[in-house]
Amino acid sequence: MSICDLCEEQAKKWYVAKPHESLRKVDEVRIYKGVKPRGFQEQDYQCLVCSAKFTHSTDKNDLPWTLWRG
Ligand SMILES: [Zn+2]
Repeated sequence: MSICDLCEEQAKKWYVAKPHESLRKVDEVRIYKGVKPRGFQEQDYQCLVCSAKFTHSTDKNDLPWTLWRG
């Protein structure tokens, strides 16, 4: 599966980065409150251009932008 340039760049970004312009939210944000110190959130995205899927996580121990390669 090949992905577009914007998605290639997104996969390298820090957790505070915004999703690129062709990424759309998939499902609702998932909130994990039980994790120290302040919990974290995950949100799934899919690219309208190349259909790549990302999960964005604010968990500092996880990758900020996880690209799911098909
Ligand atoms: Zn893309």
